[in-house]
Amino acid sequence: MERKTGYVWHQQYAWHNTGTHAGFVESGGYIQPYQNFESPDTKTRFAGLVEVSGLIDHLVKLKAEHVSEADLARVHTDRHIQSIKAQSAEHGGDGGDGFTPFGRGGYEIATLAAGGTYEAARAVLDGEVDNAYALVRPPGHHAEPDMGRGYCIFANVPVAIERLRAEGKLGRVAIFDYDVHHGNGAQKIYWNDPNTLTISVHQDRLFPVDSGMADERGEGDGHGFNINVPLPAGSGDGAYFAVVDQVAAPAIRAFKPDVIFVSSGFDPSAADPLGRMSVTSDGFRGMAERLLALADELTGGKIVFSHEGGYSAVHTPFCGIAVLETLSGHKTEVEDPFDVSFGPSPTRELHPWQQDQISISAKFAEEIAELVEKVSA
Ligand SMILES: [Zn+2]
Repeated sequence: MERKTGYVWHQQYAWHNTGTHAGFVESGGYIQPYQNFESPDTKTRFAGLVEVSGLIDHLVKLKAEHVSEADLARVHTDRHIQSIKAQSAEHGGDGGDGFTPFGRGGYEIATLAAGGTYEAARAVLDGEVDNAYALVRPPGHHAEPDMGRGYCIFANVPVAIERLRAEGKLGRVAIFDYDVHHGNGAQKIYWNDPNTLTISVHQDRLFPVDSGMADERGEGDGHGFNINVPLPAGSGDGAYFAVVDQVAAPAIRAFKPDVIFVSSGFDPSAADPLGRMSVTSDGFRGMAERLLALADELTGGKIVFSHEGGYSAVHTPFCGIAVLETLSGHKTEVEDPFDVSFGPSPTRELHPWQQDQISISAKFAEEIAELVEKVSA
């Protein structure tokens, strides 16, 4: 079935400047300048394949606009916003943790990224499109209220959600984050909120190294509405499918959101230089199929993907196109050339040591229905 899929990409996202770091290490001394793992390449090559494959003709192009300072202030502290603004007006700087470099004008690009996620979600909620993918940069899922972290300056998804809530367009929201790193930003922002279900599957203690454990479940009325699935390194398609089937789907089904947001990072890819997972493009396709079916069942098909990480410049485009093909229902002629190597790997299967961890989080998912009743009573 072909669907109307909204698509956001802006050339200015490629101009976000992450400096001359060697990977994530600042160059200088014995460290030769190079480029950051977070460089324009992965996203421009993904956007390029969307055009060259012809998929672009089956998508609805959406135009990103900047979010305002007031939009940011629903999620971020004034201190953080002013710090980014001031550095951006001078020579650029860092989001706050030493791992979030940006160049002059970085504030404007970051507000355009949050605006891209907002526009994708707005178009879905207003019924202009069935679902949407926001290919934005910089990413957002590590950004916390008072600081940027891990390449993320502002929390794109929460900034979009809170603006839509302020506009009266949105109530209950579920966020599913499959980026290989922990979705610490949404966890922190919605820690006490029973109206926002946050679920993150990630490589155990990869980044941030001290967060993302299964026992981090939220507090107060928000207790139980944050679910982490920290998977062991090496997990592949089978483990990720099990996470959607056994944790995300039952939790989201019991939660009954108005819309599902997906923090879409392609760094669980088998080719990623920062993650140690083994997901293939068919793995991302299979997750998207499951999430779309869930949206059909619960939200009239309303689902919004916002791009996060993914640092293999050569594999990310094929993972991304697999997701966009699924959302739009239009299959291109593109075949993933990396499947020759990743396809036959035993890492694609679900292994008992991965199931053990998934079972812990699945128990928490089972409690959601009761918690929803308790909070609304
Ligand atoms: Zn990541």
